[in-house]
Amino acid sequence: MTTINNNYLKLQGSYLFSTVAKRVAAFKAANPTETVISLGIGDVSRPLVPAVVEAMHKAVDEMGEAATFRGYGPEQGYSFLREAVLKGDYLSRGINLSADEIFISDGAKSDVANFQELFSSESKVALQNPVYPVYLDTNVMAGRTGAFENGRYGGIVYLPCVEANNFAPELPKEHADIVYLCSPNNPTGSALTRAELKKWVDWALEHNSVILFDSAYEAFISDDDIPHSIYEIEGAEKVAVEFRSFSKTAGFTGTRCAYTVVPKALEISDVRGGKASLNALWLRRQTTKFNGVPYIVQRGAEAVYSPEGFKQTREVIAGYKENARVILDALKNAGITAYGGDNAPYIWLKTPAGLDSWGFFDKLLTEARVVGTPGVGFGSCGEGFFRLTSFNTPELTREAAARVAALKF
Ligand code: PLP
Repeated sequence: MTTINNNYLKLQGSYLFSTVAKRVAAFKAANPTETVISLGIGDVSRPLVPAVVEAMHKAVDEMGEAATFRGYGPEQGYSFLREAVLKGDYLSRGINLSADEIFISDGAKSDVANFQELFSSESKVALQNPVYPVYLDTNVMAGRTGAFENGRYGGIVYLPCVEANNFAPELPKEHADIVYLCSPNNPTGSALTRAELKKWVDWALEHNSVILFDSAYEAFISDDDIPHSIYEIEGAEKVAVEFRSFSKTAGFTGTRCAYTVVPKALEISDVRGGKASLNALWLRRQTTKFNGVPYIVQRGAEAVYSPEGFKQTREVIAGYKENARVILDALKNAGITAYGGDNAPYIWLKTPAGLDSWGFFDKLLTEARVVGTPGVGFGSCGEGFFRLTSFNTPELTREAAARVAALKF
């Protein structure tokens, strides 16, 4: 008899975005002449920059010629891109890694989802609340949790990120083997300072724990005090894996390219009392289950590190950051307390006038015709908060901001 992986049955329905879509569709059907603007999207709106497009065109031409055609590439990425990442993102910051510690992939989502496979099913997992839901759901699928009760899964160490701790998770009081840290954070838009991150690295070194550090929004960091990489912290190469993506850095959400850094210094215990290299195991896993990112896409990603590509992508990010400033100003004018936006494309506002996350969603939709995302959808500690994003066009962002600023509570 075939039986199902019961852990999948523990998953909660992903109601957040489907409920948002349903409520928006109902509003539009009842108000066909109204224009609704979305500040809820987690996708970019600006196209690929010219340097990336040019590199991809050239790569397409190479694929059409027998002499330069490429078939299967190395599962872990072509060395031209691994070297470009190494130089552009690490050596330039004084971080000593080597190209074989960088694994190119088709997305940070799949990498943060898959990496947990390398750990035993008894491993205790800690994660921020609220946070990007993929960390939790993939550990539910892998059987590392109990049932879902009162808004929480048994067996998970939740790290509240709330106003009182400035949305920075505190060290857990109980043991955790694996901790997911997302900085800059989706959805709170806050980022861990050097001192905060050092606390985590020291804790992991002391407790033999591993930090899975998701810095998909690294390119949005402006403050000098916020590390771009966890490896800026001494000793992190012994305890941390880092996930990065070209999605938000260079508009690759549809093109698909990312990378994961697994330092060779990172070793964990095996059952025989020996040590296993996570780098060697991740290579083994990727070469078995993954067949690499298309050559054309990797050439496009490489172009992000060229002088023109860098300049062009930074201009796009500067535009999104300007959108964030426009939204923050509008919220201030409406008397709404808001966080984030300085080092992330996300603005995390405190729902005013006693409204809960969904109550604010309805008010924003019906009175301002603006769509955002209820904070409670990212975890129980997101109740009473709401996420707006800076990814829409400048024109629509300004229009939405003016509508928000005019709200009365
Ligand atoms: N990590 C975080 C925190 C995200 O918010 C997202 C996308 O929204 C991802 C990873 C996914 O990145 P990618 O497009 O590279 O799969």
